[in-house]
Amino acid sequence: MRRILCVLSALSFAVIISGYVINSNVRAEEINAAEKTTAKDIVCGMDVNKDKALKADHDGKTYYFCSKHCEETFKKDPSKYLKK
Ligand SMILES: [Zn+2]
Repeated sequence: MRRILCVLSALSFAVIISGYVINSNVRAEEINAAEKTTAKDIVCGMDVNKDKALKADHDGKTYYFCSKHCEETFKKDPSKYLKK
């Protein structure tokens, strides 16, 4: 009985370790993907997903916003946020 417990704990340890390795690989891939698809909301400074974010074109450039509120704030006075 003791032996079975020992084998089981060794197995679960291996599962945890492999799970951790797989997770960290997935996480690295997510970070790489995130770098390609995120943009900075220049109103609030948040990183936003380009696919889901609100977009506004200004001076031939596309800007991304986390919310309607940020988009409207930018549109009211774009130069305020473009100066920096
Ligand atoms: Zn925002």
